[in-house]
Amino acid sequence: MSDLTPVPKGLERTSEGHLLIRWSDGHSQMLPPKMLLDACPCATCREKKETPTATESPLKIVGSVRPEPVSVMSMTPVGNYAYTISFSKGCNKGIYTFEYLRDLEEESVET
Ligand SMILES: [Zn+2]
Repeated sequence: MSDLTPVPKGLERTSEGHLLIRWSDGHSQMLPPKMLLDACPCATCREKKETPTATESPLKIVGSVRPEPVSVMSMTPVGNYAYTISFSKGCNKGIYTFEYLRDLEEESVET
C-alpha cells in the first residue's frame, strides 16, 4: 500500500443507516450495510459465494420473507490499514482494508 492510498478521515452513519466514509482525498463514499455484508472479505463468506447454490430446493418460496435490515453496529480499526465491521446480523469476521472499502461500488450520493 503506497502513501498515496486515501485513508478514512471520518466515519458517519446516515439517517438511512448507511455508512458514510470521508476519505483523506476529499471523496465521500456512501455504503449500505447490506452491501458491506455481502462484500465480506473473510474466507468463510468468500467460500460461500463460490459455492453454487444448486443444492437449494427449486420449490423454495421466494419473497414471502422480508429480509431483516442489516445495520452496522461498529467499526474497529485493525492496524492502520483496515477495519473490522460488526453488523447487527451476519458475519463479523471480515477485515475490510481501506483499499477494499474504497473499491466497493458505492450508492450514488444526491447532491
Ligand atoms: Zn465473512
